[in-house]
Amino acid sequence: MAGLAAAAGFDDAGFVVELYERQSYDSKGVNCGEAMTAVSKIPLEPTVENGFLNPLPAMEVEVYDGIDADRHRTGAGTFPAADTYITDRNVVEQSWAEQLSEKGVDIHENQSITRTDFHEFTDEYDLVVDATGQPSLSSKALGTTNEYSGYMVALNSDVEGDFTELYPNSRIILENYTGYSWAFPKTSQRANVGIGWTVSDGSVQIS
Ligand SMILES: Cc1cc2nc3c(=O)[nH]c(=O)nc-3n(C[C@H](O)[C@H](O)[C@H](O)COP(=O)(O)OP(=O)(O)OC[C@H]3O[C@@H](n4cnc5c(N)ncnc54)[C@H](O)[C@@H]3O)c2cc1C
Repeated sequence: MAGLAAAAGFDDAGFVVELYERQSYDSKGVNCGEAMTAVSKIPLEPTVENGFLNPLPAMEVEVYDGIDADRHRTGAGTFPAADTYITDRNVVEQSWAEQLSEKGVDIHENQSITRTDFHEFTDEYDLVVDATGQPSLSSKALGTTNEYSGYMVALNSDVEGDFTELYPNSRIILENYTGYSWAFPKTSQRANVGIGWTVSDGSVQIS
């Protein structure tokens, strides 16, 4: 998304833009980051065809003080969501890439940029925006990846089921600072569900 946003911004500003993506937008299997906020900033109609499925009315939040069975719920609330959709992110990205391509942005798909390419690009282009996610290619090329402290492990999936009790709201459960889980219904029959937890010392503990 960050690469598409950067390409759109520089294209609008009148620059000649080239966008490199190691995957193909037609077959990109991305399904994290599907609860999108500030959707009106994306220059696409928020239609189902463009991947915007559920205009989220509210997020149900529960907070616990730990992850053990005897944990306590320390807070809960339902918070209105503005300008937010639960999406099929791959469809949003595909639609945005198509729009950029039609506007003349040169998109190079299935092209994985190496550290050597990165250094060559910084000589060749006036400006290079690294939007390769975590850990970034530039941090690998510049040897700064180890400056990250801690990280999260996450498992998520797009599942079919009966979400009528929750839909159209979404739910997120926070467990102290250890992790969180979520259910983001796209329709009453389909949702992005997942769990993530922090790893700060190299070990993973799940209970
Ligand atoms: C399980 C999970 C659930 C999440 N849920 C949410 C959510 O619901 N809402 C939310 O706002 N955030 C969510 N996040 C966070 C969100 O996914 C990230 O903040 C967001 O994806 C970051 O976007 P990005 O464009 O910066 O990087 P990425 O999405 O990581 O995109 C990087 C892009 O660069 C490409 N790339 C990588 N390396 C190269 C290379 N060498 N050459 C060429 N291309 C390359 C990749 O193919 C990819 O297209 C979630 C994260 C996880 C892990």
